[in-house]
Amino acid sequence: MTSAAENPNPTTEQRFASNWLSNLNPVNHFAKLGEEFYSEVNPLPLAKPRLVDLSPAACQLLDIDPNADEKDLCAMLNGELIPSGFEPISMLYAGHQFGVWVPQLGDGRAMILAQVENPRSGLWELQLKGSGPTPYSRHADGRAVLRSTIREYLCSEAMHALGIPTTRALGLIDSDTAVYREEVETGAILMRMAPSHLRFGNFELFASREQQDQVKQLADFVLQHHRSELLEKDKPYLALYQDVIRRTASLMAQWQSVGFCHGVMNTDNMSILGLTIDYGPFGFMEAYNPSHICNHSDHSGRYAFNQQGDIGWWNLAALGNAFLSLLELDEAKLAIESYKSLYQKALLDLHLKKFGLEAAMEGDGELIQDWFKILESGGIDFTNAFRALSHFSLVESTPEQLQDLFADTQEFKLWLDRYSTRLEKQVISDETRQKQMLATNPKYILRNYLAENAIARAKQGDYSEVVKLREVLSNPFDEQSENEIYAEAAPAWATGISISCSS
Ligand code: AMP
Ligand code: MG
Repeated sequence: MTSAAENPNPTTEQRFASNWLSNLNPVNHFAKLGEEFYSEVNPLPLAKPRLVDLSPAACQLLDIDPNADEKDLCAMLNGELIPSGFEPISMLYAGHQFGVWVPQLGDGRAMILAQVENPRSGLWELQLKGSGPTPYSRHADGRAVLRSTIREYLCSEAMHALGIPTTRALGLIDSDTAVYREEVETGAILMRMAPSHLRFGNFELFASREQQDQVKQLADFVLQHHRSELLEKDKPYLALYQDVIRRTASLMAQWQSVGFCHGVMNTDNMSILGLTIDYGPFGFMEAYNPSHICNHSDHSGRYAFNQQGDIGWWNLAALGNAFLSLLELDEAKLAIESYKSLYQKALLDLHLKKFGLEAAMEGDGELIQDWFKILESGGIDFTNAFRALSHFSLVESTPEQLQDLFADTQEFKLWLDRYSTRLEKQVISDETRQKQMLATNPKYILRNYLAENAIARAKQGDYSEVVKLREVLSNPFDEQSENEIYAEAAPAWATGISISCSS
């Protein structure tokens, strides 16, 4: 392809290729599997697209300059531009939704434009979400509204900054296209990125149709392109299933450790690579309530905060069923049995870190449980409580924020005495412990009311708050003196915000 420098009037595609795609080689490994696994699609661009924001950290993974020509970037995110070598596809999958088997789902509004390889950052599928109908749209419009797109964008990048495995988000556009939900909204498109967007549901679909060859092809695909180290094992398929179990257990524990509630843990929303995927009515825990339900449509609380660990197990069991043609039944049973202890161990390790405890000692379980009981009975902010505790010192007086949060109750004073006694038993210095806790307990999380504020302004055409939030949340562990206000608990008007599945 001619470079823009040599050509005085380059086409958009030429400019794009020379500016942004020079370090990206389209490999399209999944597309090579064949059309049983997906459908070829064409994006349906939105009217009058406007760039809302780009994540510099995500751009870096692709060597894309976030300050490059906005019109070209918009054209890319709007699906107007399909560079050569790109092959837009939508994946075919099924899933258990709220425990109910749905034999066919698929990407109803998502299109993988290409899978590219960057020499430095590896494989990335570039996916548009909200780019129009696909053969799997099931009478829906294939669109995503600005509101939910902003939420997914901000949360993907915030989760990454928290160190939690997740799909990434390159950026998003808004538009003039009307999209009808409970009211008329505007259509938006997110460019999502992940090494692979494969879900448990991709495997379930072929297993349910007794197409065992296809199940094997999918497993071989994951082994070859994403988990090649497991090909050395005696039983690679078993190793792959164990790998998904281990990663999912770890992911569930990480969600719990930052108070993240996903809200729609259907098996079609579970990543085979152990990534957080499909941000919908998610929410971060604020006033601590272990049975918090973030999804307004989840009437039974199937996906309540304190159910997530068990649901991880349930979903992995469904995946195990789909894997049965590749495994011995006994092996599969043994593997899934290991989940609960893996999850408990991962959660305990993370809790120890959150409390600044080097290694578990007798009584730690009780100490931790009692802390959560106090948080619950006082309706205390989960994130701010851990952050304030991180400033606690054995030699100085109790930090003001800690006193304020716990209203200095007798119950809390007694707990703090036990905590002090426990801290005195460890070797590391108080200062080191504080530092470690501050690097573990975030100060800034994506609170619903912050997202709502940014959304309200964006709906008026002012995207600055989306940009600001993305910036603040990209350093969640830093003290950002000028951004203290973003660490505040929800104001009264916002404590009851509930988010539905409609997006
Ligand atoms: P979700 O709960 O967002 O993960 O979506 C569940 C299924 O519904 C997936 O197959 C989506 O692709 C599909 N879906 C959700 N919203 C839409 C929409 N507006 N148009 C087409 N398909 C959709
Ligand atoms: Mg989904």
